[in-house]
Amino acid sequence: MVNLVPYEFWFLTGSQHLYGEDTLRQVAADAQKIAASFNGGVQKGPYPVVYKPVLTNADDIEKIIREAEASSSCAGIITWMHTFSPAKMWVRGLNALTKPLLHLNTQTNSAIPYATMDMDFMNLNQSAHGDREFGHVTARMNVPRKVIAGHWAQGRFRERVFTWMRAAAAATDARHLTVARFGDNMRDVAVTDGDKVAAMGTFGWSVPYYGIGDLAEYLKAVSPGDIGRLMEEYESAYTIVPGKDKDYTYAHIREQAALEIALTAFLGDKKASAFTTNFEDLHGLKQLPGLAAQRLMASGFGFAAEGDWKTAAMVRALKVMAQGLPGGVSFMEDYTYNLEPGAGMILGAHMLEVCPSIAAAKPTLEVHPLGIGGKEDPARLVFDGAPGSALCAAVVDMGSRFRLVCNQAQAVAAPEKFAALPVARVLWKPEPAMETACEAWILAGGGHHTAFTTALDAEHLRDFAEICGIECVVIGAGTEIPAFRNELRWNSAFWGK
Ligand code: MN
Repeated sequence: MVNLVPYEFWFLTGSQHLYGEDTLRQVAADAQKIAASFNGGVQKGPYPVVYKPVLTNADDIEKIIREAEASSSCAGIITWMHTFSPAKMWVRGLNALTKPLLHLNTQTNSAIPYATMDMDFMNLNQSAHGDREFGHVTARMNVPRKVIAGHWAQGRFRERVFTWMRAAAAATDARHLTVARFGDNMRDVAVTDGDKVAAMGTFGWSVPYYGIGDLAEYLKAVSPGDIGRLMEEYESAYTIVPGKDKDYTYAHIREQAALEIALTAFLGDKKASAFTTNFEDLHGLKQLPGLAAQRLMASGFGFAAEGDWKTAAMVRALKVMAQGLPGGVSFMEDYTYNLEPGAGMILGAHMLEVCPSIAAAKPTLEVHPLGIGGKEDPARLVFDGAPGSALCAAVVDMGSRFRLVCNQAQAVAAPEKFAALPVARVLWKPEPAMETACEAWILAGGGHHTAFTTALDAEHLRDFAEICGIECVVIGAGTEIPAFRNELRWNSAFWGK
């Protein structure tokens, strides 16, 4: 994954001095055991959890939270009240907290030890009320947070911790994210535009503009040797379709190799982890980046076409969240529908740029004409998307704030071969049903571009939205239009129009 910081999470355990040193020693031992459990074994977390000494007073709590704030590797804190921990002690520290917060409501033991428990045991294991005290203060202070209750060794509990860690890592990545825009957004398009200053304030996204001529300069500097090495990689990774004229095909693929090299160098120099292109603005380029954009997405860059910087940033966010998981993440566009009764499906694709991380099988590398943009025929990877659980996510600018719109879906194998379609594509059945999903998406103002994934679920996106402080609506099982309309209206009352 390109430009991914090796993040870690700090494990902060609350207690107090009321119970004596023996109790505090046991609290520390239990907290170390739980923190360490996330770092190994069958269900290992995506990032290390770092145990910190047990906290028993306001000064130490504020100090450790300020240290977490100052640490570039700490992507969030995980709190747990092993005993009672009077929560006024936490107020100063929480006032200093801007990083993601996960609050665990758990205890060392799973079962009540009926035969042996005494009042010492009761004093030691009282997160049942200690976590309520901490929860009261975080609720009263309205701290953005996630609460996970259950026994720490249970699979589902741990999965939810890891989901939050992935969302927190993506939100932390976003705070330093640069989305390089080659050109502006496509002329007259509403949904791909937005308030870039507000986006910086909300997510941290920086979205500087670059003239495509700046990239053209990098293109001139690409050496034939570098192109040759990349062509060898293409030969082994993809099935090259030579078409009627092999020389023409290979020459056009070489042009995309040069674009890939130039883009990688340019984005590296600008410390950008995401980028956009625009087919209306290609001066100095022979082809619209197709294969090049697909390859950069596969290596972890966020991308969206037509200057859609919000979707490019979301593709990057989902790439970070999905790091190491089976499945993929791609830029996507709802292209066309299958509206046969009982077989409602959306065909997602783009004119070129779909990420091969979602491919069902080895892609083919092909060269075909492109109807728009007025440039040479671009090389692109062509494939069908893999079937499985999927999710579409789009951030839209509502004028005074951002809304995250998600739709759960089932990606499915195509019932017939696409014999003439020269682009990568994926078919999915949106949940809860075709008509409801499409109506809800349009009522919510979700755009035609999305970040599409087969690696994540709605909880990742809900956690991300909570951390970033934006509205999140999820269209999925159980969604009904009248209730969904009301949810949007009520949300508007809370978030502002
Ligand atoms: Mn598009």
